[in-house]
Amino acid sequence: MSETNGKVVCMVTGGSGLYGMAIRAHVDSSAEEKDATWVFLSSKDGDLRDRKATEAIFERVRPTHVIHLAAMVGGLFANMSKKVEFYRENMLMNDNVMECCRIYKVQKLVSCLSTCIFPDKTTYPIDETMIHDGAPHLSNEGYAYAKRMIDVMNRCYKDEYGCNFTSVIPTNIYGPHDNYSIQGGHVVPGLIHKCYLAKKNGTPFEVWGTGSPLRQFIYSGDLAALTVWVLRSYDSTDPIILSVPEEKEVTIKDVALMIRDAMEFKGEVKFLTDKADGQYKKTASNEKLAGLRPDFQFTPMAEGLKKACDWFCANYETCRK
Ligand code: NAP
Ligand code: GDP
Repeated sequence: MSETNGKVVCMVTGGSGLYGMAIRAHVDSSAEEKDATWVFLSSKDGDLRDRKATEAIFERVRPTHVIHLAAMVGGLFANMSKKVEFYRENMLMNDNVMECCRIYKVQKLVSCLSTCIFPDKTTYPIDETMIHDGAPHLSNEGYAYAKRMIDVMNRCYKDEYGCNFTSVIPTNIYGPHDNYSIQGGHVVPGLIHKCYLAKKNGTPFEVWGTGSPLRQFIYSGDLAALTVWVLRSYDSTDPIILSVPEEKEVTIKDVALMIRDAMEFKGEVKFLTDKADGQYKKTASNEKLAGLRPDFQFTPMAEGLKKACDWFCANYETCRK
């Protein structure tokens, strides 16, 4: 990374969340990241929905590089019930962060999209060129349109101001420090929490929906390593999908059974088929990533899930839930 006055300052918004904590762990354990000062923000450092608070952070930290992860984030059921807030809060945060990156002459900004912003009716696999080719699934359109605008604005900032802004597109993420809220969280932390309670209370382990939808999951530690590589070495405004290969796509039922095994739960697994399934699949191509990082080894899902389950059990009293 190039330097400003001899100093490289990498600022990570959303540094206290699932993804941000994984980047922190990656940086802490990697000797080659010691050439930069890393600053990890949480909402306690300032509310990024607020322009003045965002400017105050940039004034204080003076970042040369920014990884922007902060967002209002939730699983299918949170997205279905709070579409207005998912749109507005994410638009405000993204607008404030991008504009401050322009004003404070940040050398590179990496923002975060998601495969759940992809068109619902499309051909598979979906690649980076297809993001805007059709409407997203209705269940999360507030979140999806706010995220899609990051890609649009990356190009606009490049055209008008020459800014070096790009974005990554992770698939479903899982790992330690997740949001284990059963109502508001994503499927993996929700299932881990429900399996924990089923084991503790001797009740059935309830999986929502039919279990048939397909997803690609990436372990947060793998995603962290790839994101830091993007910050250092990926030079294009166009987004890049950070995903396991298509062949690693699994059903929600597969995931539930892997969690059952990792948690050593011996009771009944029930599928509540009256609950929503959401988007059936959003299969993403990782061809672009594989071309640039043919060497990269992904953590096998059973191994990553075991780590996420063990972390939850060890931190049950204090974790987000
Ligand atoms: P997370 O665990 O819920 O973390 C969200 C982070 O954003 C936290 O650090 C939170 O700070 C911060 N934040 C939220 N509202 C804020 C505000 N108003 N001002 C300042 N900071 C605020 O979420 P995550 O799963 O790590 O997601 C990180 C990024 O990955 C997001 O952009 C998300 O859209 C994207 N993504 C996630 C997934 C997934 O499966 N989880 C998949 C694809 C993409 P506090 O801790 O202080 O609340
Ligand atoms: P998505 O990948 O963006 O749809 O978000 P999620 O991580 O919330 O995954 C949703 C899928 O998992 C849907 O098919 C749900 O029916 C299924 N699912 C099964 N059990 C749960 C659960 O406890 N929580 C959540 N969020 N989804 C669940």
